[in-house]
Amino acid sequence: MGAERFDSFGRATPPATRTMPADDAIALMKSGKAKKNALLAYGNGRSYGDSCQNEAGTVVDMRPLDRILAFNAETGLLEAEAGVLLSDIMAHAAPYGFFPAVVPGTQFVTLGGAIANDVHGKNHHRRGTFGCHVESFTLLRSDGRIYRCSDTDNACLFQATIGGMGLTGLILSASIRMMRVPSLDIVEKATPFRDLGEFFDLAEAADQANEYAVAWIDQLAGGHRRGRGLLFTGNHAEHGSHTASHAGGRLSVPFQPPFNVLNRPFLTAFNAAYRWKKGRSSVPRHVGYQGFFFPLDGLSGWNRLYGPKGLFQHQSVVPEDVAHRAVKALLEAARQAGQGSFLTVLKRFGSIRSPALLSFPRPGFTLTLDFPNRGEVTLQLLRELDRITVEAGGAVNPYKDARMGADIFAASFPDWQRLEALRDPAFMSDFWMRTAKKLDVRRGNVEAAE
Ligand SMILES: Cc1cc2nc3c(=O)[nH]c(=O)nc-3n(C[C@H](O)[C@H](O)[C@H](O)COP(=O)(O)OP(=O)(O)OC[C@H]3O[C@@H](n4cnc5c(N)ncnc54)[C@H](O)[C@@H]3O)c2cc1C
Repeated sequence: MGAERFDSFGRATPPATRTMPADDAIALMKSGKAKKNALLAYGNGRSYGDSCQNEAGTVVDMRPLDRILAFNAETGLLEAEAGVLLSDIMAHAAPYGFFPAVVPGTQFVTLGGAIANDVHGKNHHRRGTFGCHVESFTLLRSDGRIYRCSDTDNACLFQATIGGMGLTGLILSASIRMMRVPSLDIVEKATPFRDLGEFFDLAEAADQANEYAVAWIDQLAGGHRRGRGLLFTGNHAEHGSHTASHAGGRLSVPFQPPFNVLNRPFLTAFNAAYRWKKGRSSVPRHVGYQGFFFPLDGLSGWNRLYGPKGLFQHQSVVPEDVAHRAVKALLEAARQAGQGSFLTVLKRFGSIRSPALLSFPRPGFTLTLDFPNRGEVTLQLLRELDRITVEAGGAVNPYKDARMGADIFAASFPDWQRLEALRDPAFMSDFWMRTAKKLDVRRGNVEAAE
């Protein structure tokens, strides 16, 4: 077996070259000797871009901190070290009738990573982001001190660390409020829609009636089928399993194919088959939670199918009143560029505010597209998608990104300077260097240029 690679999930940027176990980093920080911009926490590398990388420094492997410390089976309050995976948290709490209030599309994220990116799930309209369910956490800063943070203790650091992309220090442990559910299973319904107009007519009512709602778009369908897709809605089943099932990965991609396997003919056939299989009947079905929330976890290492150059993910959010026009323009730009997206996901975000200083979700609609990295042609398309998003008054997701320019970041997060003010001086990421630090230099901050 080769040495472990500390990659981003998109693998379009090189893996980290210098890594350090959590215990060594903790000792270094407690000694107060950590150097400027030297460190960055690495959770489980499920961020698509370079927000989990620090080329000029060292990434800190947080996964050894993987103990569940306490669980209250009455209230669902769970305390764990930051490197615990959500899959383990689910397995621990399931027999007591609890489930994380927010889960992203993979269960293989750490508790620290979920907080640092303030991740969202298919129920944003009901529960907001992951950060809305964080009771407190402990944060180690390079001054050697451990800060207990909550909305009443060290509230500024609490807000900056949620969604702070690892820049405020090391989260060591956290307490989260889990949600009581009748079972883990889901009653799922797949409703086909013919075009975007039909989707937008369905979306709000679907959110009101269901805990979970998300749409899949057949991005390669042309002509009169353009914009067609399936709207998946779901609720926890009244009667069903209380045991977490095997966490994904029964099948795996054993080696790195030398080219992108997910090419256009493959995707066209896949999309047609997927739509046929899932959309055959609009009758609700009882399904396991793994397939509903984490369909891609079933094939471990699937990102390798994109070939050695990796993939880029583009996630945008645009305000509700312009969403139809903007989403249409984004899909059209991808079509015109002849780039097929393997997974195209459209979802309505609700208006529940996150405690985070910088959080990606905001009221409106969010579109996610995955593209194989074909070099400059792909980068050009991504810039066009950025332009459409920002002109519509929207934002581009930083923790899915590996290449956005500083201006797009500033337009997406006008408050970025508030995070920079609370950033731990010993912490830096390639993403922050490429965006916020460039903006800082433009503002005449000489130190940033050093
Ligand atoms: C298949 C798939 C589906 C996904 N679906 C969704 C989705 O539906 N919604 C969504 O929001 N995201 C989604 N994501 C993205 C993923 O949920 C986030 O990027 C998540 O934050 C990754 O967590 P991680 O533990 O792997 O952390 P990493 O990717 O390793 O790191 C993420 C960030 O957290 C910081 N960090 C990690 N641990 C700590 C710590 N202990 N202290 C301080 N900072 C820390 C890192 O420095 C970095 O900035 C998906 C990703 C994949 C691969």
